[in-house]
Amino acid sequence: MVTSSAGSVPARPSARIAVLGRGLIPADEPLLRGDDLGVLHGDGLFESMHLRQGRPWLRDEHLARMARAAAAVDLDLPPTDALTDLLDSALAGWPAQVEGALRLVCTRGSEAGGPPTVYATLTAVPASSLAARRNGIAVALLPLGVPADARTGLDWLPAGIKSTSYAVNSAARRWARANGVDDVLWVSSDGYALEGPIANVVWLTGDTICTVPATTGILPGTTVAWLLAHAHELGLNGVERMVTPAELHAADGVWFSSSVRGLAEVRMLDGVRRDRCPRTPALHELLGFPVD
Ligand code: PLP
Repeated sequence: MVTSSAGSVPARPSARIAVLGRGLIPADEPLLRGDDLGVLHGDGLFESMHLRQGRPWLRDEHLARMARAAAAVDLDLPPTDALTDLLDSALAGWPAQVEGALRLVCTRGSEAGGPPTVYATLTAVPASSLAARRNGIAVALLPLGVPADARTGLDWLPAGIKSTSYAVNSAARRWARANGVDDVLWVSSDGYALEGPIANVVWLTGDTICTVPATTGILPGTTVAWLLAHAHELGLNGVERMVTPAELHAADGVWFSSSVRGLAEVRMLDGVRRDRCPRTPALHELLGFPVD
């Protein structure tokens, strides 16, 4: 934790914004044109990364996911070197002890044509995310209204991309707040739990740690992919499979995983309290997310 010169008050660095080709700009300086298609249509992509010890964790995986998404929506992404330079300019001098949320945004740019709008933002990880990581979260089930395979067969619809078009996700988060829970878990009309609006669901049954396959059209999470690939370090198997809410209620542990919040244990699922899973601290440690 960084402290002030008085040595007691934790210093929280102010938000930063860096723009491709311009570097850091004052965070309160206007940046987007009024006709930017990212604003008008949510026509853009983004990635959120966890800044730890001053470096973006899983940066290359995030850039690779953005490149796949850009190809899927025919967006002209700048070369990877330019994107990493942009990220570096946003994070230069950020105090290594302060966890950061580093976001890379690329929209289709002006409606009048021209290059994409590309910038990065950096803030300290919000206190609410740290609290969720430490204390866990209450999650309600929310119907998605379509079967689990609804998106799989539609070749016109890019699935599993991190689009700035988050209206449905935001609506679900508003519903959560209005209904007194921290988050929701979408359930398909044929009864499968899929993902949360900003996180993947992860569960433990015996010594198998699982998540939902990305072939359902959910976002393939970088955090959960890393977790499953390294689960063997805790003596666990990592598996992707479909799951019903009833199976989640019976699981030995249930978590939401995402880049900035890390792992948040589900302590209440659809109104039913869940005991803390004894594996949670080891999972936090494996993933390298500090828990105070
Ligand atoms: N699913 C959705 C819909 C998300 O928005 C996110 C992250 O924001 C995730 C899953 C988790 O992905 P990641 O671990 O790459 O952050």
